Amino acid sequence: MLAEVTAAALICLDPGHGTAPDVGRQVEPIGPGSAQLKVKDPGGAAGEAPVVLAIARRTRALLLARGYRVAMTRDGIGYRGGNRERARFCNSRGAALMLRIHADGSSDPGVHGVSTLVPALRRGWTSDIYGASRRAGGIVQRELVAATGARDLGVVERADLTGFNWADVPAVLVETGFMSNRREAGLLRSAVYQQRVAGALARATQRFLIR
Ligand SMILES: [Zn+2]
Repeated sequence: MLAEVTAAALICLDPGHGTAPDVGRQVEPIGPGSAQLKVKDPGGAAGEAPVVLAIARRTRALLLARGYRVAMTRDGIGYRGGNRERARFCNSRGAALMLRIHADGSSDPGVHGVSTLVPALRRGWTSDIYGASRRAGGIVQRELVAATGARDLGVVERADLTGFNWADVPAVLVETGFMSNRREAGLLRSAVYQQRVAGALARATQRFLIR
């Protein structure tokens, strides 16, 4: 067993949204020292918060079974932090990976598929985590597409995500599908599909860590 020799790596799971409304409306700087403020939680896609929490819980079970330690930024509704707090939570635990779990939404109900967001390179903010995050993102996206057969929307660099800009540990954000697409939303609400997604996330995490 891994855990008997050295302390097992800790994975930080961050299911998106689910923030208490009074906190979600507050703003926070998008990165250290930035004057640009962004709302803590705009609420996410309709039905997203419970789906991504369910996927996170399934992922946690699979990671624990593989011998990893797991911390979750939230494990219910009414979260009282913002994305800066979510990043700091993972930073302070020295997470080997911050895995942010979301689902997407679009005004076009025909849009579907999975993507993985990674931090864009910005000196002083993400230069310390850019390479590892990019590598983790590629693995996560590959595993997720292989496990679900969902449309591959690729790995996308983002400079505007508070949770990335405050992270000091490798971080990725997986968009597990579109809640605005009837078929994909149905899949994301089903236990079988959630488990398939969780399996892909656990596998990808392990692949990233054993390199
Ligand atoms: Zn979201």
